[in-house]
Amino acid sequence: EREAALHNAHLPAVTTDHVRIRVKANVSSVAVARLGAGLGADGSGLIRTEAVFAQWRQAPTTDQQVEVYRAIADVYHPHPVTIRTWDAGGDKPLAFVPREAATANPFLGARGLRAFADDPTLVLEQLEAICRVAVDRRIRVLFPMITTAADVATARELLDRAARRAGLGRPPEHLEVGIMIEVPAAALRVRQLATGLDFVSIGSNDLVQYVLAAERGNPAVAPWSDRLEPAVLELIRHVADGAPDGVDVSLCGAMAADPDLAGLLVGLGVTELSTSAATVPMVKQRLRAGSTAEFRALADRALAAADAGEVRALLERAGRRAT
Ligand code: PEP
Ligand code: MG
Repeated sequence: EREAALHNAHLPAVTTDHVRIRVKANVSSVAVARLGAGLGADGSGLIRTEAVFAQWRQAPTTDQQVEVYRAIADVYHPHPVTIRTWDAGGDKPLAFVPREAATANPFLGARGLRAFADDPTLVLEQLEAICRVAVDRRIRVLFPMITTAADVATARELLDRAARRAGLGRPPEHLEVGIMIEVPAAALRVRQLATGLDFVSIGSNDLVQYVLAAERGNPAVAPWSDRLEPAVLELIRHVADGAPDGVDVSLCGAMAADPDLAGLLVGLGVTELSTSAATVPMVKQRLRAGSTAEFRALADRALAAADAGEVRALLERAGRRAT
């Protein structure tokens, strides 16, 4: 199967009933972008800009950011790339983003877009770079840690301000705008929050930790942070069903990197996956192995399961039948 996956890496992922699912790569550097493109990724569904500039002691200038974002966009041309604004804080410190005062629960603190509530300078500079690149490249901009409608309004205002700073008057016409759905409140209210946007991207890592109240990466609570818990799956289905018509529903994070889950996620209603470069070919191959009706039936059975263990058993049976 691995061999077949690599052999077919540059073919689109099309289900047996002819539905195309875009499988994109998560990107943390220009080198990783090239790796993903070499493995057949349909663009990037998540450029973690805080990872791209993780080693920088000082914030990159707008010009420096333009150069890097343009280089990544060029790697994937003609596919679009998704640039996420700084998602610092929580487990991801950035030397040039002022740290919030020590807090007992950094994951519930001023991370992501929240970090710039008092001083938006850094995110404005970044959005200015994104606007400039979007003038002649296919770019999507993605805002992290969106929780409320007020956050969406703030994000839009910042983008408008940045476009004026870039001398454009308003954001480039073809720049697509989206939000991360990784906070349960945003998942529940996706219809209201995503109206007027182009896409949403489910951040499965954070969604799992916030839904199950189990810190990501903390082994002590690993038994409570199973991404196959039906509560998690139900929320993903809710997002897919609730997203306004015409709004793409992407999913990134570790769930997308597990080829065993690809069919399940599409069955829940996700229309696009963004995963680590290395797993792109296998995820595509699994999606070619079934129909959307089969994936839907699998997802329905998973939603009816009592717990994660039952979902896992279901997936194993489905996997055995497919091979
Ligand atoms: C996520 O939360 O699933 C995600 C993709 O973002 P990050 O892992 O960078 O928080
Ligand atoms: Mg996240």
